[in-house]
Amino acid sequence: MFAYIKGTLEEKSTNYVVIEVGGIGYKIFMSNISINEIGELGNKVKVHTHYYVREDNISLYGFNSQEELRMFELLISVSGIGAKSAIAMLSQISSYDFALAVISNDVSKLVKVPGIGKKTAQRLAYSILEQPPERAKAFAEALVNAREKIHFCSVCQSLTDLEVCQICSDVARDKSVICVVEDPRDVMAFERTREYRGVYHVLHGVISPLDGIGPEQLKIKELMTRLSDEGVKEVIMATNPTVEGEATASYLSRLIKPMGIKISRLAYGIPVGGDLEYADEFTLARALEGRNEI
Ligand SMILES: [Zn+2]
Repeated sequence: MFAYIKGTLEEKSTNYVVIEVGGIGYKIFMSNISINEIGELGNKVKVHTHYYVREDNISLYGFNSQEELRMFELLISVSGIGAKSAIAMLSQISSYDFALAVISNDVSKLVKVPGIGKKTAQRLAYSILEQPPERAKAFAEALVNAREKIHFCSVCQSLTDLEVCQICSDVARDKSVICVVEDPRDVMAFERTREYRGVYHVLHGVISPLDGIGPEQLKIKELMTRLSDEGVKEVIMATNPTVEGEATASYLSRLIKPMGIKISRLAYGIPVGGDLEYADEFTLARALEGRNEI
């Protein structure tokens, strides 16, 4: 309804400003970072606005830049995050830290914001990771910068801003057990169980002939190199229990069996047709514990 408001800055409070346009004062809620940057009373200012309408809250929210506005709109599109929480987040964490927290899946930073629980932060991180890079660019330059810094770990192929990720470089981890997963988010899911002390290998997908994804599109060559070099004793197939996940697991076990390495598959606990990343810690821990040799 209102794309922006341009007028005279009449009042500045800790969480809103009043801008006068033609005899009408518009009360606009803003992050305190934006309020600090907006300028002096009496100045002509322009803020980008979002007209927020919910049963319990009809307000105007304002932003100094399009990027901040887009970030706000992205935040409130996540279920469980309302306008007030979104503004609180924009007030407490720089967009760079925010982006880094999201990309590295380190939700502990986001959880510090009042009103953001662990589940919501996780949901937020996931919904942002699913944005195509073009949109990510539009919503925050910082996200793009951070994203460019993030690449695949040279060992396990998970996401990291280091050459070798923290899990792979942790001397306390058991390098003789490799848990093979489809997606970096599955690594995070296993890490949340605090049960698993081995290392991971991320395939970045599953074999899916219908989608034109064959073994050569996945990080299978890298896995085979690890298996021949690193004295691995066991490989846990933790692909999702879908048709493609099962097919990928059995393809890999045919490749690995001749090497004399034990191969196991996640057992009970994970619903068939379900998605590992949404499994709770308990279910995932049980599935890990009850894995079978295949
Ligand atoms: Zn790694």
